[in-house]
Amino acid sequence: MEPVSRRALLIGGGSGVALATAAALNWDTASRLWWRVPGVDKQRKEGEVDQPGVRWIAASEANLRFADRPADYVIDRVVIHVTESDFRTAVKVFRDPLHEAAAHYLVRAEDGRTVQMVRELDVAYHAGNRGYNERSIGIEHEGFVDRPGNFTEEMYRSSARLTARICERYGIPVDRGHIVGHNEVPGADHTDPGPHWDWKRYMAYVRQARAGSGKA
Ligand SMILES: [Zn+2]
Repeated sequence: MEPVSRRALLIGGGSGVALATAAALNWDTASRLWWRVPGVDKQRKEGEVDQPGVRWIAASEANLRFADRPADYVIDRVVIHVTESDFRTAVKVFRDPLHEAAAHYLVRAEDGRTVQMVRELDVAYHAGNRGYNERSIGIEHEGFVDRPGNFTEEMYRSSARLTARICERYGIPVDRGHIVGHNEVPGADHTDPGPHWDWKRYMAYVRQARAGSGKA
């Protein structure tokens, strides 16, 4: 079986959950053994995304670690970031092997368009904390922490839909204990998303999107 099949099962959710779990368990046993064979790389489809409607632009593999989440690490956090750069620069640095950081997703301010740069199964270096990197999905938002005008309605809406689907995929509760700012990661020396990020509005949109898909 190909990894793609298993991911499709996991992402499917809904009524197929019990069936998918049973299938995933069997498959996991085989996949773990296969994964341990030195020099064997996990098969990944170029351009494949975890979130419908987003575009794939690969980050440099130096800015992430290949993994098999959620089988090897439980995903129970979403970490919210602000890039401190424009969108193009953020894409560029995440593709730079010397940057030592990248996030799974990057949301554009102007229209909320989103690119995925790291697969959710992989560990992206975004939180500055190994344990948090392993347990989280990182979402970067184009903008600067000291410019309130950066954070547009389109960006909040689009990012909230993404976070809602991530919470749905991994069974993450929609609350501020599980959807956190980079500044709230233990040991983090970053201040993003900063004082102008409207958490109240964002969480309301996430809850709305989580409650009724397509509503937000
Ligand atoms: Zn950050």
